[in-house]
Amino acid sequence: MGELLRVEHLRKVYEPATEAIGDLSFTMRAGELLCVVGPSGCGKTTLLKCLAGLLRPTGGVVEMHGAPVTGPSPAMAVVFQEYGRSLYPWLTVRGNVELPLRHKRLSRVERARLVADAVEAVGLAHVARSHPWQLSGGMQQRVAIARALAYEPDVLIMDEPFAAVDAQTRADLEDLVRDLHATRGISIVFVTHDVDEAVYLGERVLVLSGAPTRVRADLPVDLPPERDQRSTRALPRFTELRTQVYEQIQRAKRGQNVAP
Ligand code: ADP
Repeated sequence: MGELLRVEHLRKVYEPATEAIGDLSFTMRAGELLCVVGPSGCGKTTLLKCLAGLLRPTGGVVEMHGAPVTGPSPAMAVVFQEYGRSLYPWLTVRGNVELPLRHKRLSRVERARLVADAVEAVGLAHVARSHPWQLSGGMQQRVAIARALAYEPDVLIMDEPFAAVDAQTRADLEDLVRDLHATRGISIVFVTHDVDEAVYLGERVLVLSGAPTRVRADLPVDLPPERDQRSTRALPRFTELRTQVYEQIQRAKRGQNVAP
């Protein structure tokens, strides 16, 4: 499949003098599930905001389908960690999922179809008429995911989306992401500071160095595509990969140079 995203010599300095991204280059192909990990404060959120066109880079470029990203684009949807703040309490689940679609020129029938399909895909059809505050944290995050899906973006960008939910809910949501990727072929950039999560979810893991960040390692995850929480995490290869990523992050924290 073709190239979707190209990041070339990306640099971001917050004025007056915080260099968050040093020099970052990588590409992503269409349909890929790419996990990005790195130590806390290394510039992961800054990278996502540059990818999504929410922040203007200080240097370098982000290209999508060969064209520079210069502002927020309908081709991208972002799911943030703070689901509670990203949903409107006065709207139902359906209303929340539908809201961004009002910016698209769609017939009412088409809009209703996209909303119903997305709500169904995240397993919330039975609470489509409920309000977010009537739902658990994990279900609220499913609403945020449905909203992004209904928008039919070319790439779904997720910023530590499951950091605030309990372990079991997190595992369920990870499997939802794997499932959506497998069944719908969506391209996903998934940022996390959790090494196990990155290896379990990703087809590839990009390890970032500490700020000013660079790519420290770019590892293909050669685990079988059919994954499940118990058997995949018990595979010797899973343990090897997580150890590799963990070691890279430890070195990144100590500020050692990229290994040859
Ligand atoms: P991460 O998501 O990996 O934790 P961030 O991208 O949030 O990292 O931050 C990277 C660096 O940039 C940190 O040193 C942080 O303090 C700094 N930073 C982030 N946002 C801003 C901002 N709006 N203004 C100034 N500095 C910022």
